[in-house]
This record gives sequence, structure tokens and C-alpha cells, in this order.
Amino acid sequence: MGVGVGLTAIRQGVILGSTALRRRLLVTLEVNNKDRAYEWFLAWLAHNSTSVSQQRVTGRWFRSHQLSVETAVEQRSNGSSSAVFKLVAGPGTHWFRYHGAWMQMKRERETRAMQLMSGTPWETVTLTTLSRDRGLFPQLLAEARDLAMKNQEGKLVIRTAWGIEWKPFGQPRQKRPLHSVVLDAGVGEKIEQDVRAFLQRRRWYADRGIPYRRGYLLYGPPGSGKTSYIQALAGALSYDICLLNLSERGLTDDKLIHLFSNAPERSFILIEDVDAAFNKRVQTSEDGYQSAVTFSGFLNALDGVASGEERIIFMTTNHVDKLDPALIRPGRVDLRVLVDDASPLQAQTLFTRFYGGSEDIPSDEVTTLAQELGDLIENEMLNGRRISMAALQGLFIRNSAKEAVESCRDFFVKR
Ligand code: ADP
Repeated sequence: MGVGVGLTAIRQGVILGSTALRRRLLVTLEVNNKDRAYEWFLAWLAHNSTSVSQQRVTGRWFRSHQLSVETAVEQRSNGSSSAVFKLVAGPGTHWFRYHGAWMQMKRERETRAMQLMSGTPWETVTLTTLSRDRGLFPQLLAEARDLAMKNQEGKLVIRTAWGIEWKPFGQPRQKRPLHSVVLDAGVGEKIEQDVRAFLQRRRWYADRGIPYRRGYLLYGPPGSGKTSYIQALAGALSYDICLLNLSERGLTDDKLIHLFSNAPERSFILIEDVDAAFNKRVQTSEDGYQSAVTFSGFLNALDGVASGEERIIFMTTNHVDKLDPALIRPGRVDLRVLVDDASPLQAQTLFTRFYGGSEDIPSDEVTTLAQELGDLIENEMLNGRRISMAALQGLFIRNSAKEAVESCRDFFVKR
């Protein structure tokens, strides 16, 4: 019996001793997915597990049996895109080496409780390493942050609402140059100048106690470049876009107010097709779901921004006549701009952008054809017929310069 008691005591001692030793020798860092560092860290890990050159510097994967896939859509400068799969550490325990130190990484997912607002499961990553290497944690996180920032540099980030939070939607995109969206003479400049002037008048607003916000409404037929222009402008000013869909399931007046007042700094809030959200009293989708955002709730959200915060709101619509006058009064919409179908000048400019400067066709021929296209569009306009910029772009993509003018002629004949 004495031996038995002795052995139990020794076992307990060993357990206690090893726990105490572990506490003294090891340090742990917990990062949960509410923190921005969480995404940065996983992206960093994915980056390092695939890039050979980095492996030498920061360490290498060691036996990972649980992987998850992260699909990134990469956009190239010519507008095409491709999907790239990256295998990241899935829930479970993994080991890696960072600057000579072994680290254990435990990724855990809490499946029973979801985050109240966004519906995503809670996740935590726990990093453990030797106490003497604790200084590496901040270094690792800083590296992860810098990598994330580098991926966003010079790109346009689009966010959408997830519950009451704004989350990036897809990968950061290549910025579109402002001049590639061809609007009618002076239209683009008017919007750009207005936004730039607004951004320089923060003091002016503050001194007068006026909320520092400005609303823009771009209206006109579909495919005229409203959305493209707003995105290009955001890119030119290094702003992000927060895309808001008012008919989204689960969106309520309360959440809307929260979203409006918590949009990230330096971002435009973009609401597309505002007329669609409130054209009927209650918005009902096919399966009987009723939109929970009320018109008055939306107006409140537009107005209810605290005065110090900068807020730039862009709305687009194809049917300006369907909008309630209460929505487009000054203070809610400060600048209203018509973005219309192609004018002769717009068509000519787009044509020259597409075909000019190529070796396939002499430049004087491009000029002649552009003139011909402009005349054609002008004539058709006199008869009340127009073509959208998106349709023109489609014709130009499919055809050579000469065919493009012909196919535009056909387009009007068929109408
Ligand atoms: P809207 O928001 O007015 O419906 P979009 O901006 O979505 O139109 O444009 C649809 C497509 O047509 C885009 O691929 C865009 O490149 C092209 N496009 C439309 N208008 C223009 C324009 N004014 N200049 C250049 N491209 C345009």
C-alpha cells in the first residue's frame, strides 16, 4: 500500500511539476478572429508555406495533416482573373519554425456558438513557444501586418456588410484608371472636383457644426459607367468602397445605423439601385421574405451620422423619377449627376482608346472611323435612339475597328 501511495504521490508531483515548468518555460499568444491580426496571421502563414524563398528565412512547415483551402481570385491589370488555391493550416495543431524558434500553432473552432451578428463561428489561434523567444511574437505579427498592407497597396478594397461589420469582399482589386471611364464632357470632372473640394473643407464644416458628410446621386440608364466611375474615383483618391445592399436579408434599421456610423475611414459608402430597395411599400422576395429596412430607417441612417465623422455616400439609380423627394433633398443628396448613354464625343473617345496607338491600323484611319462613328451616333440621337457605353464596349471588344463601326450601324438598324 505504501508503494502505491508513494507512486501516486510521485505521479501527481510529476504532473504538477511539468505544468509549472511549462508555465515557466513556455509562452502562449491567443489571437481570435474578432481581431484583425487573425486574418493577417493566417494569410502570412499561407504565404510562407508556399513561397520557397521565404522558407529559408522564416522557417518551414512541419507535418501538417489538417489543411483548409483558401481560394483567392487574382485580378490582372488587363482585367482578367484567375483563381488560386492556397492551403492554409486547418483546425488542429501545427508546428513551424520562425527565426530559429519552434512554434506550435493550435487553431480551434467553436462550433456551438456563432458570432451573434455575422453568423461566423468563433475561431482562435494559439501560438506557443519557449519563453525566451517571446520577443518573436510582436515581430511575427508586424510581419503579417506588413504583408497584408503590401497586398492592398495600390489596390481597391471593396467591403460588404456582414451583420454589423464591414468585411472585405474578395481580394483587393486592381485600380481602374479614372480616364478609362469615359463620361460626357465635364461630367466626371464635376464629380471629382466636388469630392476633392469637400475633402478639403473639414474645418469649414466643423466650425459651423454641420455634419461632415456629402451625398452623391448618379442616375441614368444601365451600362453608362456609374458604378465604374465611382470605383475608379475611389481608386484615384485611395479610398475603399463599402457596398451596401439595402434589400439584404437580416438587415434592419438598427444595423443600418450602426453600419453607417462605423464605416472604415477613407471609404465611400456605395448604394446601388436605391430605387429598387423602396419601390414598393414592403419589399418581398420570391420566398416571401420581407426586407426589414424601412424607408424612414434609411433616412435616419443617412442623417444620423455624428457630426465629426467624414462620410461620403454614393447612390446610383436607373430611375431617378421613382425616388422619393425626401431622399434626394439637399443634405442627403448634395450633387445629382446624369450619366447618360453614349454621346458622339464619348463614343469617339472610347473608340480611339480601343484602336488608337496600335500597329494594325494607321492612326489617320482611326480618326476617320471615329468621326464616322460620332456622326452615326449623332444622327441616331436626332431620332431618339441611343446606345449605352457598355454596349459600345462590347462591340469594340468583339470587332476590328472597321467592323466595330458597321456593327454599331447594325445595332441601330435592329432596334
Ligand atoms: P452602370 O453602373 O451605369 O450600370 P457600369 O459601370 O456597371 O454601368 O458599366 C458596365 C460595363 O460597361 C463596365 O464593364 C464598364 O467598363 C463599361 N462602361 C460603361 N460605361 C462606360 C464608360 N462611360 N466608359 C468606359 N466604359 C464604360
